[in-house]
Amino acid sequence: MSLNKYIFVTGGVCSSLGKGVAASSIAALLEAQNFSVRMLKIDPYLNVDAGTMSPYQHGEVYVTDDGAETDLDLGNYGRFTTASYSKDNSVTTGQIYEEVIRRERQGKYLGKCVQVVPHITDEIKRRIYLIGEKPDVDFTVVEVGGTVGDIESIPFLEAIRQIIHEKTSQNALSVHLSLLPVVSCGEVKTKPTQHTVKAMREIGIQPQVLICRCTEPMEPEQKKKLALFTNINEDAVISGHDALYTIYEIPINYWKEGINEAILSRMGVTQRTPDLSKWQTIVDTLKHTDKRVRIAMVGKYIQLEDAYKSIDEAVRHGGFENKAKISFKKIDSEEAEKLSDEEFAAQFDDIDAILIPGGFGERGINGMVKAAEFARKNKIPFLGICLGLQIMVIEYARNVLGYEDANSSEFRPESPHCVVSLLEEQVDVTQYGGTMRLGLSESRIGKGTKIYEAYGTESILERHRHRYEVSNRYKQELRDKGLIISGMTPDGELVESVEWPDHPWSTGVQFHPEFTSRPTKAGPLFREFVKAALEYRANRKQSPNTAE
Ligand code: GLN
Repeated sequence: MSLNKYIFVTGGVCSSLGKGVAASSIAALLEAQNFSVRMLKIDPYLNVDAGTMSPYQHGEVYVTDDGAETDLDLGNYGRFTTASYSKDNSVTTGQIYEEVIRRERQGKYLGKCVQVVPHITDEIKRRIYLIGEKPDVDFTVVEVGGTVGDIESIPFLEAIRQIIHEKTSQNALSVHLSLLPVVSCGEVKTKPTQHTVKAMREIGIQPQVLICRCTEPMEPEQKKKLALFTNINEDAVISGHDALYTIYEIPINYWKEGINEAILSRMGVTQRTPDLSKWQTIVDTLKHTDKRVRIAMVGKYIQLEDAYKSIDEAVRHGGFENKAKISFKKIDSEEAEKLSDEEFAAQFDDIDAILIPGGFGERGINGMVKAAEFARKNKIPFLGICLGLQIMVIEYARNVLGYEDANSSEFRPESPHCVVSLLEEQVDVTQYGGTMRLGLSESRIGKGTKIYEAYGTESILERHRHRYEVSNRYKQELRDKGLIISGMTPDGELVESVEWPDHPWSTGVQFHPEFTSRPTKAGPLFREFVKAALEYRANRKQSPNTAE
């Protein structure tokens, strides 16, 4: 019999405390005891989904198998747990209101005045139960985005208060994440945490477990003090100190801190011994290796740490499998564009591979084209993801096919040589949303290619999120001039992957392999990319000047 219990993870004091990693680590601990776990993200913003949001402001847009464009935390859920997820696992205020207003227009509320309580809160509860009441679910970990005290999150917290009341705290439990700041004299302060728990209580929710984000492990005295002020027992005040090696050690840290027992004992469930060996293996690898790889990432959303979250993680996963620590050099393609050739080359003196990630819009494109040319000519390992593949094709058309004005119709529709463009049937569509290729689909890959070596099979499934395609008008010409088209859609129509001839390791893919990469099993392209980078580094050490 399944348990159908709920754990609600909220955050206080400020954003970016790592609530997604905290929620995922709790879920990972439960999974490690063989409980069946699901995860749900609530985002209190009005957007219906994350598809239209800029990575500058909100970090990467994550894509699920069924093509939902979601908050990046779903990526954490996928990396920390094996729990299945789809569009149902991401709830926004926009979706809730859209549904309630749709029903109101259909006259479903029978003349009633439609209100936040109970109509909006009922819809929120319906969405939570849709995941958590399934017969095969023991625990649903629900993460509430934003910070307690925000106006937007009030209806969600009210719905959670009702769920805890209806189901009792044995079946629905509140975990609150807070911050212990260090002030200038070096003293750790508990006051903001006292206040955020007070804010929760004012809404009618008494957190049962408190996780305190801090740099160093908490002292027993601090736990005691917080317990006194927050009505939370000392055993359930958990030190959420910074990880030493990797975020993947957090499930282990939480276990040592006793969060599992704190949660399960309050929910009337007997603790089982968790198997944490997969996390321990990762920690041990990083602890003991002295292999290093430095990856240059040339993109336009460099300023925000989270803009390429899944790619950063996937490259690290590639590092784990090659027993190498990864460091990134993030290069702003728009800035790089302005550099002289010499200055540009100097950017890559200390790197072992180049990666061009996905992106939208024209800004910084020429800097990326220059980076692709540099990698191709200097035989530096190269991975191009989505826009990165399109950049490879534009660069090849400009510098090998000789079309100086080659471009994508996304950036220069007037260019006579749009080697990347919309499909003919897409051209008339005016609604942006309708024209994206989203979610999981198949690519057929050719034997003897780098991508085949990586995946070891001719048919692969990966997630897509793009609008433009390599133009079929130039396919033959690109091939005739040496570009290897290593993967196609099953109907043989669209280009899915390419690689350069006479180059040690290069691949561009139209899909996003980063979304399915896991810490315990790296995406095959990331594994091979890091391997190629390690080989390049070994040679680079012998001859630092690798430029032609
Ligand atoms: N902007 C490009 C397109 O729409 C690439 C998208 C991406 O990199 N995700 O096709």
